[in-house]
Amino acid sequence: MKICSDVDGVILNYILGFIEFTQKEKIPYSHDPELWGVIRNFPDNFEVRNRFHAGDSLRNLKYFDGSLEILNLLARSHELHLVTALEPEQTQKRVENLESVNYTTLQCVGHLRKEQIIVKEIQPDVMIEDSPELIESFCNAGLYVIYPDWEPYTKGMDRYATPFSHWQEVPDLLKKAS
Ligand SMILES: [Mg+2]
Repeated sequence: MKICSDVDGVILNYILGFIEFTQKEKIPYSHDPELWGVIRNFPDNFEVRNRFHAGDSLRNLKYFDGSLEILNLLARSHELHLVTALEPEQTQKRVENLESVNYTTLQCVGHLRKEQIIVKEIQPDVMIEDSPELIESFCNAGLYVIYPDWEPYTKGMDRYATPFSHWQEVPDLLKKAS
């Protein structure tokens, strides 16, 4: 089976990494867990994002509970493709952060190309994604989609896709895709 997974919000905790960055840099910030994405409402969102991505945070994002173990278990018998909307320039940091994962391919493709690459090129049997907008698009494109439901911003996405609350549940959900 061909498994494709997003990275931030699914495998790595980008939100926590960003919150820790703002604390370290003393940047006032309050996170709204109802909304997908973290960098908003700053006088200059691009500047904040560039600072966050320029430092070491991006090499050291924490794994969600069970994600590393379950991905490596799945990688023993399936293709595992990781696609992230990070810009291609961030590939090295992402590779370092994910060096313990036995993936088949890893691509940092930028926000604009992500959907197209997954739907047209990878064509996975199952897609793991957390962005509400992309969950909907991937389902509309005919993909079987599962999503982590531990953040409130995915509320209501069970209209389109199948939720999981812990990575331990994922192997059983994949049986439905084969
Ligand atoms: Mg994501």
